[in-house]
Amino acid sequence: MTVESEYEGGCSCRSVRFRMNTNPLIVHACHCRQCQRVTGSAFVMNALVEKSQVDILCGDIAQFRFPDTHHTAFFCPECATYVWSEYKSGRFDDCWFMRVGTLDEPDRLPPSVHIYTESKQPWIILPEGVPSFKQFYRISDVWEESSIIRIGANWNPPVHK
Ligand SMILES: [Zn+2]
Ligand SMILES: [Zn+2]
Repeated sequence: MTVESEYEGGCSCRSVRFRMNTNPLIVHACHCRQCQRVTGSAFVMNALVEKSQVDILCGDIAQFRFPDTHHTAFFCPECATYVWSEYKSGRFDDCWFMRVGTLDEPDRLPPSVHIYTESKQPWIILPEGVPSFKQFYRISDVWEESSIIRIGANWNPPVHK
């Protein structure tokens, strides 16, 4: 039986398996150039969740810090699937940005918000009713209050680099 607030996932070769033990704080579709490059695709989908809520069930995880950014990507050393990222810019230090595409049931987590749409691929039509921002946003404008309370978010301008 699937527990509604649990999400399991892993890499392509199944060496790495993990479980998110709660619903994400928010789900980003990020259309920035770096996310396009890292994924080799049009955008990345990241489910933000507290690090304390993620259990690694098996496997080793390697990491790579992108030069001149706050971004470290974590991946399976066997098959090179990126499973999550960290953005150590202050506000999200305690969160993993889980790659939604690595979940067993990625359909459960559609984007809550589209960000960095200034560099989105021109053929992508953003869905109506889902907030979108040319760059980033103020947490207080977008997040549900329950998520804000969970992370104790402050209101500083974000740094996404
Ligand atoms: Zn793997
Ligand atoms: Zn991005």
